[in-house]
Amino acid sequence: MLRFAPSPTGDMHIGNLRVALFNHILSKQRQEPLLIRIEDTDKERNIPGKDQEIIGILQLFGIEYSDLIYQSNNLKFHRAMALQLLQNKKAFNCFCTSETLDLKREAAIAAKLPYRYDGICEALSDAETIDNPNPFVVRLKKPDHAIEVDDIIKGHSRFEPDDIDSFIIMRADKYPTYNFACAVDDMLGDISLVIRGEDHVSNTPKQMAIREALGYDKKIEYAHLPIILGEEGRKMSKRDNASSVKWMLEEGFLPQAIANYLILMGNKTPTEIFTVPEAIEWFRLDHVSKAPARFDLDKLRFINKAHLRMLEHKELSRYVGFADEEIGALAKIYLDEASTLKELREKLAPVFAPKQIEGEFAEQAALLRRAILEAPYFETFDAFKGHLMQTTQLKGKLFFKPLRLLLCGGEHGPELSDLYPHLKNYLGEIVR
Ligand code: GLU
Repeated sequence: MLRFAPSPTGDMHIGNLRVALFNHILSKQRQEPLLIRIEDTDKERNIPGKDQEIIGILQLFGIEYSDLIYQSNNLKFHRAMALQLLQNKKAFNCFCTSETLDLKREAAIAAKLPYRYDGICEALSDAETIDNPNPFVVRLKKPDHAIEVDDIIKGHSRFEPDDIDSFIIMRADKYPTYNFACAVDDMLGDISLVIRGEDHVSNTPKQMAIREALGYDKKIEYAHLPIILGEEGRKMSKRDNASSVKWMLEEGFLPQAIANYLILMGNKTPTEIFTVPEAIEWFRLDHVSKAPARFDLDKLRFINKAHLRMLEHKELSRYVGFADEEIGALAKIYLDEASTLKELREKLAPVFAPKQIEGEFAEQAALLRRAILEAPYFETFDAFKGHLMQTTQLKGKLFFKPLRLLLCGGEHGPELSDLYPHLKNYLGEIVR
């Protein structure tokens, strides 16, 4: 079983979507189901409705899952496992107040030493623990050996007991910390491979230490994806528009293009343009670069355009807000000048908008409009043009400029002869 474990604490970031896509691909390749676990244990930071938004995005991107669970529903297991660790002396109650710990931390900083928990409460006897009325947290005893992690992307690393330390697994309010909940849930979910962002690298040995202390010896594989940097080379923050999947969709990037781009970045792929089902055929986690990937909006635009070109006319038509197949074909002509659905809509809107032509060509436009509305149907642009020239007696600039304004709602654009085949059935509506 694989899992994708988003926190419902904000808009879905492209880094999270990349993690979700890689989990989807690996789950298909290994023919193991994918579990979605909403990590909602941070009550203060949860935002109502974000879980549904995340699920909506997963569906939009074709990410199939066999199960959807909420981490908070596993609370009883987290508590039971913490109790088990306490009984087996793998964990202990810690009564240190945050003031005491802060002082010790400051002293360590002043002495230029790394701060470590000093183990003071580990030495308390059972009696001292049981009789103590003060609030306490539960800490896992730091392991007595180094923990080694073999990461499919990042390679091997070794964490010494002091790096892991006696860390907190249950808070004073009897709720688990992220590391504890996650380690237990991965165990309960029988997870075989964890793919997640590299911000969790230092959590991995802790989670392994927790499962080891619980006596769980199934090996879980890990792959930590490097962070995505913004175009200026800085870490993309929530404030960078382009880091939000919602923003990308609103800008008119197709899900299949966003997915293509996120799989392509920092990766060795056999082609540049592909679909997710194709990627399932050849994708390899160990081909993903361990260096941070840099976001490149121009590249995404290029990929989006390629996917827009691949759409069936009818589908493209629907995407830009029309029903007829013909408008999809028309939109494809505008793809020379547009890379997103939003830009395409902006190109098409003036074509179908009512047109009030004033100024230099007002008179000719009025003549042409009447001629077009009264003209019979012409299959080709040449025949249409010939007929209009004859009826209006206009030529040159005085013919073409107002004709373009009437047909396209603007002075510039693709060749009228290329547009005409797709406009000819809508002339009455267009020259209104
Ligand atoms: N909930 C964590 C996050 O959104 C993911 C943790 C994990 O995948 O283990 O960053």
